[in-house]
Amino acid sequence: MNLPENPYLLLTPGPLSTSKTVKAAMLRDWCTWDEDYNLKVVQEIRTRLTQLATSATERYSTVLMQGSGTFAVESVIGSAIPATGKLLIIANGAYGLRMIQIAKVLNIPFEAYILPETSQPDLAHIRRLLEEIPEITHLAVVHCETTTGILNPVREIVALAKEYHKITIVDAMSSFGGIPMDINEWQIDFLISSANKCIQGVPGFGFIIARRDQLEKCKNQARSLSLDLYDQWATMDGGGKWRFTSPTHAVRAFLQALTELEEEGGIEKRFERYSQNQKTLVDGMRKIGFDALLPDNMQSPIITSFLSPQEKEYSFLKFYNVLKDNGYVIYPGKISNGDTFRIGNIGVVYPSDMEKLIETIQRMKFW
Ligand SMILES: *Cc1c(COP(=O)(O)O)cnc(C)c1O
Repeated sequence: MNLPENPYLLLTPGPLSTSKTVKAAMLRDWCTWDEDYNLKVVQEIRTRLTQLATSATERYSTVLMQGSGTFAVESVIGSAIPATGKLLIIANGAYGLRMIQIAKVLNIPFEAYILPETSQPDLAHIRRLLEEIPEITHLAVVHCETTTGILNPVREIVALAKEYHKITIVDAMSSFGGIPMDINEWQIDFLISSANKCIQGVPGFGFIIARRDQLEKCKNQARSLSLDLYDQWATMDGGGKWRFTSPTHAVRAFLQALTELEEEGGIEKRFERYSQNQKTLVDGMRKIGFDALLPDNMQSPIITSFLSPQEKEYSFLKFYNVLKDNGYVIYPGKISNGDTFRIGNIGVVYPSDMEKLIETIQRMKFW
């Protein structure tokens, strides 16, 4: 089959560079009523995702949800917190802040712990909040804050929440599939991710891997019809049907992406590759005079923020365009105070790509 070459490599945190075989898997049509789709694609994906997330597969179940990752986050926040509940949201970046926005729009009582984008949450402070505000029933936190690439100590935060018997919600959008974890051991009740991040599928849907007993409690609690997590789960659990039109091509591509994750050697091996990408990138960039925003001990293997060059001739747009002409698409910075740009380490990207990227940047030196 003659598939077109992509004109440039996406060094972005999703959508990201996918394999040709993942793209090729989209080249047929599916009937959403037929078991070729419901059983062999949808149910198969749900089973494999639960297995990737934990060895305690009987306690957990996977729900697929149409839309981008935010839709999946909104479906969890909008369905899991009862009218009498209160959500503690930890935010050290745009995605934590987005959860606050969701709680506001949905009129869900919440408490926010907002901290600078370059700081990790402080466990003692979280403990104080849990002690002082007993009305808190749920805690939500982002694993890898894609805003900067900072990795939050989610395992420790969730363990602390569990000391106080809270329900835990983790936005692992940009880390699930790229960083090993067992969500039962980590005591995560709801984990959220999406198709176009570390599993290396194409955009179109998100997924929630959740404790079955917690999904049961979401019944009749949703603040939205289309984002009703319980209803979506109850329908899907009965034979792989989606309540409303499913993104069939993206779903089929995702099954292929899961197979390729397995062929690569699973999450451990992917984590090694991403870590190698990140290390190659940051070592090379430092050699040619760039500084990373974060210290190495906070940095995730997912995406890296760099401080923009200080020369006044530098402009991100010019930098971006020259790199694009040379075959690489990077990402603008997203932090509120400070000039940065970001380079993604995930997708069908290898250390050799990072080396070539650095050679290209070094050659440019146009500012
Ligand atoms: C990508 C991402 C999301 C979801 O963003 P969408 O644009 O809705 O797909 C949420 N949280 C994090 C940490 C992300 O990286």
